Amino acid sequence: MTPDLLPVQMFIDGVWVDSVGGSAFESTDPYFAKPWARVPDSDAEDVDRAIQAARRAFDDGPWRRTTGRDRARLMRRLAALVEQNADELVTAEVHDNGKVIREAAGQINALPAYYDYFAGMADKLTSDVLTTSYPDHHVFQLLEPRGVVGAIAAWNSPLLIATYKLAPALAAGCTIVLKPSEHTPVSTLRFAALVEQAGFPPGVLNVITGAGEVGSRLVADPRVDKVAFTGSTATGIRVAQSAATHLAPLSLELGGKSANIVFADSDLEAATNGVVAGIFAATGQTCVAGSRLLVQREVHDELVERLAARANEIRLGDPMVRETEMGPLAFSAHRDYVVSRIEDAVSEGAELICGGRAVDEFGPGFFVAPTIFAGVSNAMRLAQQEIFGPVLAVIPFSDEAEAIRIANDSPHGLAAGVWTGDVRRAHRLVRHLQVGTVWVNCYRLVSFDVPFGGRKMSGYGRENGPEGMHEYLVSKSAWFEMSGATRDPFVLG
Ligand code: NDP
Repeated sequence: MTPDLLPVQMFIDGVWVDSVGGSAFESTDPYFAKPWARVPDSDAEDVDRAIQAARRAFDDGPWRRTTGRDRARLMRRLAALVEQNADELVTAEVHDNGKVIREAAGQINALPAYYDYFAGMADKLTSDVLTTSYPDHHVFQLLEPRGVVGAIAAWNSPLLIATYKLAPALAAGCTIVLKPSEHTPVSTLRFAALVEQAGFPPGVLNVITGAGEVGSRLVADPRVDKVAFTGSTATGIRVAQSAATHLAPLSLELGGKSANIVFADSDLEAATNGVVAGIFAATGQTCVAGSRLLVQREVHDELVERLAARANEIRLGDPMVRETEMGPLAFSAHRDYVVSRIEDAVSEGAELICGGRAVDEFGPGFFVAPTIFAGVSNAMRLAQQEIFGPVLAVIPFSDEAEAIRIANDSPHGLAAGVWTGDVRRAHRLVRHLQVGTVWVNCYRLVSFDVPFGGRKMSGYGRENGPEGMHEYLVSKSAWFEMSGATRDPFVLG
């Protein structure tokens, strides 16, 4: 073990613990390419203890009896603590993930609004009295928390993705076992300390860390009532199979291959900016990366030229430095994967416009140069399969119909961008694109009050907004006989 590693512990049943077996793993800082934290590696017993704690807190603990107002008060306290401790959370995310500080700070500073928003729903969960065709019966419908939530978050935006699940789950009155990615566990554990400080009862939030079988054990456990997963499509399919063994309802936020569609009638400067934001922000490691640029032939050459100029100007470097625009990839195996996909694109015949290689002049970490390929056919692997890195595939189109056909010719259906000055066309595109989100003359906006999620192989279920809240609630109908009459026992209804 390296002596100067930051030691961190897991949070189970309101107590800070190492794994029962004592094993641990190292989280690596991708800029320095060196381990920086030592984190418990859960075994089966740790997962069991965490689920037991969440189960107990839900079934027997005070959480079940809290009012929406009590939960809202705790959540607002948590929001304030996140605000007060934002710098520490930001620093942890930068070290764990390599995310540039301007983006990490933007995400962490956004978190309190999520807890405030869902706190505002916690005390407004009304029960409806239903009208029914049965006379002399009084029927009402309760909304209840689903129970124990097993939540698994991806490494690219650890606390934001966890918050998409935690804020509505807490507001609904669920308890949670959260598993952050083994690549980025530290900020989530720091956040758990704020949950403790806010005064949530033990067992309401449990955070377990590890790699290998932690996530699969959590999802397969029949004591888990609801599963919320953000990760790759391949893992999402396994998660769905596993959750199905005990019929746990599931929300899946998976990968994407989103089309950013630029028409000749668009403001090309704004479109250039949006395409750069779509593929090079967060070093391309976002599920909504606009990794396919569909561009109308009339402006193809000009746009590619503008993009190449911008890509070559992007400031790579130390993610802790404010001026840095693009950091390293999050871990070395991922850097190697991205490079292998670039090589594959060259072998498929795509034309390399810029970048196209790992670079070492910006620091010791896992850097890859912003990369653009032109001459791409939508049938290429480069256009069909997610890379999750700073690699843009440019595909020309002739007219609106062709743009829609190419955009929808994808296994994924997470998001799309449309750049046009024609509002009627924009509306037609919104209706025809088979995705969960369309941005018109903007890109990569998410908010606590706007539902987010995918279609096709990008998953199902929605996070954020009122729909995000309903993922964590289940309805119950209650019938009351009011007349005192006896019914025929052999006739239904
Ligand atoms: P992975 O698919 O590699 O997920 C890894 C996580 O899943 C680990 O925590 C792992 O834990 C767990 N896991 C693995 N197998 C199983 C299983 N059978 N059952 C339950 N859990 C399991 O994704 P990444 O973390 O690498 O994230 C990158 C992906 O996330 C990208 O494809 C990206 O597009 C997607 N993403 C989607 C977003 C969206 O909102 N749509 C947002 C951000 C990212 P363990 O090994 O311990 O089991």
